[in-house]
Amino acid sequence: MADFGNNPYYQLFIKQKNNQYNIGNTTRSERVEKLNKLKKALEVTYRGDIAKALHKDLGKPTVEAELTEIYQILGEIKFAKANLHKWMRNQKVTTPMALIGSSSYYKYEPKGVCLIISPWNFPFNLTFGPLVSAIAAGNTAIIKPSEMTSNSSALMAKIVKDIFTEDEVALVEGEVETSTQLLQLPFNHIFFTGSPNVGKIIMAAAAKHLASVTLELGGKSPTIIDKTANLNKAAKRIMWGKFVNAGQICVAPDYILIDQQVEDEFKGLCSKWVKTFFTENQKDSNSYSRIVNNRHFKRLQAHLENAKHYNANFVFGGDTDENINFVEPTLVSNLNQEATLLHDEIFGPILPIVTYKTLVEALDYINSKERPLALYIYSKSSTNIEKVVNNTRAGSTCINNNVVQYSNHHLPFGGINNSGIGKSHGYYGFKAFSNMRATIKQNTMGINELLFPPYTNFKEKLAKLTVKWF
Ligand code: NAD
Repeated sequence: MADFGNNPYYQLFIKQKNNQYNIGNTTRSERVEKLNKLKKALEVTYRGDIAKALHKDLGKPTVEAELTEIYQILGEIKFAKANLHKWMRNQKVTTPMALIGSSSYYKYEPKGVCLIISPWNFPFNLTFGPLVSAIAAGNTAIIKPSEMTSNSSALMAKIVKDIFTEDEVALVEGEVETSTQLLQLPFNHIFFTGSPNVGKIIMAAAAKHLASVTLELGGKSPTIIDKTANLNKAAKRIMWGKFVNAGQICVAPDYILIDQQVEDEFKGLCSKWVKTFFTENQKDSNSYSRIVNNRHFKRLQAHLENAKHYNANFVFGGDTDENINFVEPTLVSNLNQEATLLHDEIFGPILPIVTYKTLVEALDYINSKERPLALYIYSKSSTNIEKVVNNTRAGSTCINNNVVQYSNHHLPFGGINNSGIGKSHGYYGFKAFSNMRATIKQNTMGINELLFPPYTNFKEKLAKLTVKWF
């Protein structure tokens, strides 16, 4: 084994490694007790502090702190508690005739010592959400949250310390270097949420120890609107899905692909809904978040400059205020195909519109890009909906809505290729942190033993019968 003696997190790692079987052998009710402690911390003890930290870090309105952070984690806890008895028991499967005399099952055993690395856009949800699955599955975990939302990270460190001993769950605050040092250690599983580029670094580090990975990544999620769609409802839902958390959402619509015949009407309806949600002057709206920091503000400002450079049409928005990391909700059309808004994941409150003449053209456009985390289609035509779904690949889809697929714990959540590997939420999160251990129990003599060497003509005939009938 490699020498990790100089790694600052090695001792912590070893403490968890030595404790992993104690944690792995906990009963359902012991795991539920831990989940209850986390529930109480979020629901009661730290609820107000969480809202304050999120407001300091992201200008997040309290309603969004409740709905997009606390509610989501409590939902994960509730779902895990209700289903843990099913997930933890041996899962019986059929045994084929050729193995008669035995019975078969698999069980979900904990992977062991896990690393959870999380991003900044929903700091609590995307840190404690995976932690719920890790605990439910009986693992120990070291958590590295994002350095960009430092108030949230500091509070999460306090919550973790309150509930767990560090040989079970520990939270390490730090920048990229901290991640790099943690990634050198031979974790059994790495659960990463973040950008595709960093996802590649995580996977390369995991490959050194053949650690399994769940990569919850991002990318450009397209939204198709055909000419049969209810444009008013589409505009309302998209203006919410795009501008909640100021567009800093992995499953936010990244760009619109709309039938050119209905573009103008749709643009007018978008203006109406943005004003309804965030008033005429969005800077003063207390329902609208801020960009996380100056680095991301500058990144978004560069997108706006680039769009102006290409003489794009700003349907609305485009204003910024660097002092408060404010970027106005912005809708842009007539973009040159070279514009950066059509190439990089936007991850902010700027929405480009691209028009199409035929649905096939729209599908070709989507399929010329990386496979997205989400793909949305607004249409009343079941033929068109089917055509879109059957001729694209994506992590998830909403038909006539967006973003809400994230909230259904019965559904697997995750991307495909560039937008992610593996799934999370509910049962799929529990599965991500578990190894399915296959077991065969021999109860009586198996007929396969009749075929043990030395081989005879009789055994050859029996082998042929087995091939034919069993
Ligand atoms: P990021 O990839 O820059 O950072 C995520 C985490 O990785 C942070 O904790 C960071 O410290 C760490 N990190 C950054 N660079 C690293 C490196 N070189 N080596 C090791 N660790 C490193 O992502 P972000 O800016 O925090 O978040 C935005 C991205 O995350 C977007 O692409 C978004 O779509 C994606 N995202 C995906 C989901 C999902 O569930 N699929 C959810 C939220 C965000």
